[in-house]
Amino acid sequence: MKLPIPSPLLLSGALAVSAGAAAEPTPQGAQQIVRSGEQASVAGPENFFTGRARIDPVWPVRDTLNASGGLVTFEPGARSAWHTHPAGQQLVVMSGVGLTQEWGKPVTEIRAGDVIWCPPGVKHWHGAAPDTAMTHLAVTATVDGKNVTWMEKVSDDQYHAR
Ligand code: MN
Repeated sequence: MKLPIPSPLLLSGALAVSAGAAAEPTPQGAQQIVRSGEQASVAGPENFFTGRARIDPVWPVRDTLNASGGLVTFEPGARSAWHTHPAGQQLVVMSGVGLTQEWGKPVTEIRAGDVIWCPPGVKHWHGAAPDTAMTHLAVTATVDGKNVTWMEKVSDDQYHAR
C-alpha cells in the first residue's frame, strides 16, 4: 500500500507549533521500565477481603500522577470488604466475571472489558462471581497519603442477594 507523502510545509508547520509551545514541562528524570516479574504479588489482607484475593502492584503514586495502579485477582466467591475511596477509583475488568455493589443498590455483574467508576465517598465492594474468578485493574487516587477507608465485610447474604 502506498501512503500519501505529507507536505513538507504542513509537517514543518505542525512541528514548529508543538516545539514552540510555552507550557512544556521541565524534564524530570529518565524513562523507567519496570520489567514483568520485578514486583512481587501480595495476598489480600484477611481483614479487608473475604476469600482469596491477590494484589499485583503495577505502578505507585507519583508526585505528578497521583493515582496508583494495581491488578487484583479474586478467586470464585472472593470479594473486598465494604469501603470508600477519598478521591474515587476507576476499575477495568481484565478477565473473568465479577460482582460489584453500591450501598443501598443491587449487586451488579461486571465482565471483562467493563469499566467502573466508583465516585469519592461512595460505599461499595467488588469481587469475583460465585463460580468464576475475576481480575480487575484498580486505579486509585490518594488524598493525604490515603486511598481507601475500609469498613465491615460483605456478608454471605449480601454477596448472594442477586
Ligand atoms: Mn473500591
